[in-house]
Parts: sequence; structure tokens; C-alpha cells
Amino acid sequence: MKCSICSKEIQGDEHNALPIAVEPCCSTCNDNVVIPMRIYNLGNNTKEALLMSPDFKLKIIKPKADKFTLKELQDLVEGYIEYYPTSNKNYNIIVNEEGLLMRLSLNKISSSVFGIHAVGNVLIVPKKLIR
Ligand SMILES: [Zn+2]
Repeated sequence: MKCSICSKEIQGDEHNALPIAVEPCCSTCNDNVVIPMRIYNLGNNTKEALLMSPDFKLKIIKPKADKFTLKELQDLVEGYIEYYPTSNKNYNIIVNEEGLLMRLSLNKISSSVFGIHAVGNVLIVPKKLIR
């Protein structure tokens, strides 16, 4: 059986991939994607951002002070920031403005889970954490 997240053949245990996917995932994606997503608690989290990278990893990021600085946001997307269009009232989505020019990889996690079709790192940030 193939992992519903990274599409690689599952070696060893299959894991419940919810809330990322309905079909099971591999142990690596369980550790790197599913568990961080559950811990992050999207929709209720106003104190941390969620960073999704194209190599199938999710990270929970806290600002160094009370809010993220522009420099911190740039470092997280590894370039100039661009706000990805969203109608969400509580969160902003930030991507690398030059991601296509830099030929960054498609972010399959943000694409499959959130419908955010972008390349490179994708950052979901509570609006309260942006100056
Ligand atoms: Zn996997």
C-alpha cells in the first residue's frame, strides 16, 4: 500500500493520517506531518505559525518576540514574502514571492491538504502575530 501523503510504498506500520488524509500514511509522514498537524490544532491556535515544507515536513513556529518580524517571515519562506489569497479571517498564508523563479519544488502538503497551490515553504500565520 502507498502512503497517502508522500506516495511512497509503506514499509512497516500503517498510520491513521487524519486530519491530513483519509487513507493511511507511513511512519515517517506520521512523525513529520500528521502528529505536528494534530498538535498545532489549526483553527484555535493564535500563538504559533505552521510551516509546511515541500519535503513533507510540518513545523510549529513561535515568533521570537510577541509578533513575527518581516525578517523572521522572510527566513521562514526563504525569500521575499507574498500573501497567498485567502478569505480566512484569522490566518494569513505566506509564500515565497520568487518561488517559481527560484524553481522551488511544489508543496504537495499545502496543495493536497489546504488547496494552497504553491512552491517552496508555505507558512500559515495567525493574523494576530503579524505587525
Ligand atoms: Zn509517507
